[in-house]
Amino acid sequence: MSEQQPDPYFDLIVDEDLAKNEWPRGLDEVKAKGTQCIAINAITKENFEAFKDIKTEKAGWTIARAINTGVINPTSFLGCHAGDLESYEVFGKPLFNEVIAKYHGGYDVTTGTHVTDMDSSKITVVLNEEAKKKIISTRIRVARNIATFPLNPGGTKETRLEIADLMEKVFAGLEGDLAGTFYRHTTMTPEQQQQLIDDHFLFRGKDKMQAASGYHEHWPHGRGIFVAHNKEFLLWINEGDHIRIISMEKGGDVKRVFDRLSRGIAAIEEGLKKELGVEEVFMRNSTHGCITCCPTNLGTGMRGSVHILVPKLIKSMGFKAIDDFARERGCQARGSTGEHSEVIDRIDISNWRRLGFKECDLVQDMIKCANELSKMEDEITEDKAGEANPAPKSEDVKEEDDVETKTARSCILI
Ligand code: ADP
Ligand code: MG
Repeated sequence: MSEQQPDPYFDLIVDEDLAKNEWPRGLDEVKAKGTQCIAINAITKENFEAFKDIKTEKAGWTIARAINTGVINPTSFLGCHAGDLESYEVFGKPLFNEVIAKYHGGYDVTTGTHVTDMDSSKITVVLNEEAKKKIISTRIRVARNIATFPLNPGGTKETRLEIADLMEKVFAGLEGDLAGTFYRHTTMTPEQQQQLIDDHFLFRGKDKMQAASGYHEHWPHGRGIFVAHNKEFLLWINEGDHIRIISMEKGGDVKRVFDRLSRGIAAIEEGLKKELGVEEVFMRNSTHGCITCCPTNLGTGMRGSVHILVPKLIKSMGFKAIDDFARERGCQARGSTGEHSEVIDRIDISNWRRLGFKECDLVQDMIKCANELSKMEDEITEDKAGEANPAPKSEDVKEEDDVETKTARSCILI
């Protein structure tokens, strides 16, 4: 692709009117027709006009930049991103407060308090034996951003490189089962790249909705992945958020995965404190919890999941009904290889709630839901398993990171 032709999957393309800081022509029509896009529904012309000349200090974020992804991609579910912590405060009234309430089950940032608790000893609910047999793997991840930098959509090539350099120093201090190797996208060998692809670890950008907020600017500079020697502890650097911390392993020892994640987060936080010489290294506040580029990840920034083998249930109930069942229990269902992927014999069950709840409680929701699904699977006799209804339809699926519909999490090469 030549430099004259921007690539919508990587480059920041700003809507013509928003680029002039004007209310986008055609947006009234989109709103009148009705759209699922939360941000487009939340923003009004009146509020846009009232807030359009305000710029945040750290990222220079504006209301125009915040809604650009929703305007460019009107079929998206969420449609807005933040450039820094201040974005959530300054543009709370015209946009983010309503978006957050809509996505996070009515959570009110003007009165709510978010409390974190990563103590694994508080996980007292266990997977029962029958459920355990069905669990293929467990993965829990959190999103974190470093307080001294703007969020990546509002960042530069330099801030991305500084973050990667900083994290490299932190990685050098990790010990025991947390120690490992940092691979940068710019310098990894073809063999290393292939191995990371084979392990389903590597992310590669290429997401239109994220690109429209500037997530992928200066790709692949500053991007990287850290993999512990035992491959059970991983970090993504500058994929979207500054860091994604991931703990995963085969089987259903959820407490062990959570415990490793908890120790990992603490070790990263300690390392950053040492390097930066400040106490508060992560971007957060008492109302929004951890600050993330995408409002869907605010709070804990955590998604704890198990891959559970329930082939009869998938056949008899179908994906949609399983997802509805899970949602009533604070959980959600996903396809076997990530968001929007196909469902074959296993299903990804995780917490969908992130804000206003403690991490240990959210993980327990997921365990309880897995136990119930396992019981339902065992109650189905072969002849009762009906017609298959395996693939989640894009319009049935609630977007999380607002990734492009129907692509299995496009940052992963599968
Ligand atoms: P997230 O955005 O929360 O990291 P995605 O649904 O985008 O999650 O999936 C990211 C990757 O993690 C995918 O490759 C998916 O298959 C993998 N994954 C998620 N949960 C599990 C699990 N419990 N076991 C193994 N792999 C998992
Ligand atoms: Mg995802």
